[in-house]
Amino acid sequence: MNDGRPDGARAPSMGFSSDNIAGASPEVIEAMVASSVGQAGPYGTDDLTARVERRLCEIFEREVDVFLVPTGTAANALCLSTMTPPWGNIYCHPASHINNDECGAPAFFSDGAKLITVDGPSAKMDPAKLHHAARLKVGDVHTTQPSCASITQATEEGGVYSLDEIRALGDVCKGASIKLHMDGSRFANALVSLGCSPAEMTWKAGVHALSFGATKNGVLAAEAIVLFDRSLAAEMGYRRKRAGHLFSKMRFLSAQIDAYLTGDLWLRNARQANDAAQRLTQGLARLSGVEVLGAPQANIVFCRLPAAMIETLLHAGFRFYHDRWGPGVVRFVTSFATTTDDVDHLLAHATRSASQQA
Ligand SMILES: *Cc1c(COP(=O)(O)O)cnc(C)c1O
Repeated sequence: MNDGRPDGARAPSMGFSSDNIAGASPEVIEAMVASSVGQAGPYGTDDLTARVERRLCEIFEREVDVFLVPTGTAANALCLSTMTPPWGNIYCHPASHINNDECGAPAFFSDGAKLITVDGPSAKMDPAKLHHAARLKVGDVHTTQPSCASITQATEEGGVYSLDEIRALGDVCKGASIKLHMDGSRFANALVSLGCSPAEMTWKAGVHALSFGATKNGVLAAEAIVLFDRSLAAEMGYRRKRAGHLFSKMRFLSAQIDAYLTGDLWLRNARQANDAAQRLTQGLARLSGVEVLGAPQANIVFCRLPAAMIETLLHAGFRFYHDRWGPGVVRFVTSFATTTDDVDHLLAHATRSASQQA
């Protein structure tokens, strides 16, 4: 990974604010360029789109319906809007992206469905609390009604739901006759962390619809809505078009996802990001005055750093979010493009700061 420049010529990257500050994998860009040659059917009637659909069926070991869209917000909001009436409740964790970072898109796309937050440790919804919430005022005409739940895998805090944890939530949803959505903006990071199959992490555990993220993990701009509950598919088609997300030159989105899935690029990219986060976690944990928060399992690391260390890192040019979640709390995010050198460079500065204070 060298930004396309000759090996060793690249200065370390100093951005750790998010995984969307990285570019795209060269394979993805090359595939888009190659797909531009000649004519292709519009609106997803092209061969490349058909191939992506087949590949996702293979990867998930069953028939699925696939809808490509350009952003994760569109994927989430479109999924949720097919799973709820306007008077429905969408249960989600208070820390979830749909609750905090989508400008009300789930409510907008669903004509007003209500997000109801259900807490739990480590940005994971507590099944007992969901069970309780999904049984309140059922059938009461004065109250919005339970319709679906949404979980984020990997979570916004860099943890990963275990298969048992997903199954427990899937069972609660089944018992309450509501549907389960997975925001898989960092799906690949969670998958390689668990080492399970895509089927096990989704429909086998009770997930009906998935936002299969790709942009944060090496794609330019494409995400796949994957429907396991195929009764949602017809409505999704109309909703995607009505929302202005049916690309006439769909081949360019399909080319990206096709390249992403070819040769396990998606899994290799996720491993690179996760390994970088593990290296960073272990390096930080060794420093006096540093506390790693939670147990990072994907590519996001939360920690508490001394104010002087934050100052030193910022002054040196490193970029990351800090003091948003509490005094001294820092979030580092690694990506498919983060190298060992990038991590070691940051650790060297942090180590110097730690030894100056000791
Ligand atoms: C980034 C992200 C998304 C998608 O965001 P877009 O900017 O709309 O592509 C969705 N969920 C989570 C948890 C994210 O981090």
